[in-house]
Amino acid sequence: MSFIFDLFLQAWPVMALIDLARYAIAASVMALLIFTVARLGFGPGRIQVRQPTGRDYLREIALSLRSVVIFSLNGFTIFALVTSGVIVLPRTVEAAGGWVGIAASLAAVLLAHDTYFYWTHRLMHWPKLARHLHRAHHRSSAPTPFAAYAFDIGEACIQSVFLTLFLLVLPVHPLVISLFLLIMIVRNVMGHAGVEFHPAIFAPGRLLGWTTTTTHHDLHHQTGRWNFGLYFTWWDRLMGTEHPDYAARFHEARSRRLPQPLDA
Ligand SMILES: [Zn+2]
Ligand SMILES: [Zn+2]
Repeated sequence: MSFIFDLFLQAWPVMALIDLARYAIAASVMALLIFTVARLGFGPGRIQVRQPTGRDYLREIALSLRSVVIFSLNGFTIFALVTSGVIVLPRTVEAAGGWVGIAASLAAVLLAHDTYFYWTHRLMHWPKLARHLHRAHHRSSAPTPFAAYAFDIGEACIQSVFLTLFLLVLPVHPLVISLFLLIMIVRNVMGHAGVEFHPAIFAPGRLLGWTTTTTHHDLHHQTGRWNFGLYFTWWDRLMGTEHPDYAARFHEARSRRLPQPLDA
């Protein structure tokens, strides 16, 4: 027992710092990009007329910092499972099936996470669960990049435990875990950016229309009833939960350029 406690004291602060840095750097870089674009008066305008207030930023950051603690506790759980030999990760590229194996396992973890996210997200919209698990995230009706981890405690636990469950079923190379966490936070802050940076190739029906855009997730925050997916649009299409005007709203958001009036 004291071994686990010593391990916790050594490893958890490092994990908390890494989780904090991942969130703070990704959200700040995106916020800085949005601020610079608006300041210089070029590039895309806001998707919504509604503007986030200073209180929105503070609430999103406070909630996200709490989620960072929960995520790092889950990170320590994974670390302890690996250290104790319950989860055996492939340590070399060869053991992971070569670079093809690395690419395939990255695709697998993204597909699994998208599926897990879609269905847990839909479940959390069930009114009886929503008020306990998902209300905090939807207080951001005009989200900012800092809403990336703005979750209730229950939702933060549900979101973080995915990786533990996945690694128990399919242990992947540490590089795949790092890339997955990187892609997750980048797509997360992009989804909450409030301005549409995705080029037209991401429009529904176009070459990359199977991936989500900022408008896709922004519509979820605006309506609270459409577009539940995270990385991909497949589940929303399949289950009939894609916003009926998603394509039109995406093109509209893209055509809204600064310094035109924000609600033009
Ligand atoms: Zn969101
Ligand atoms: Zn939601």
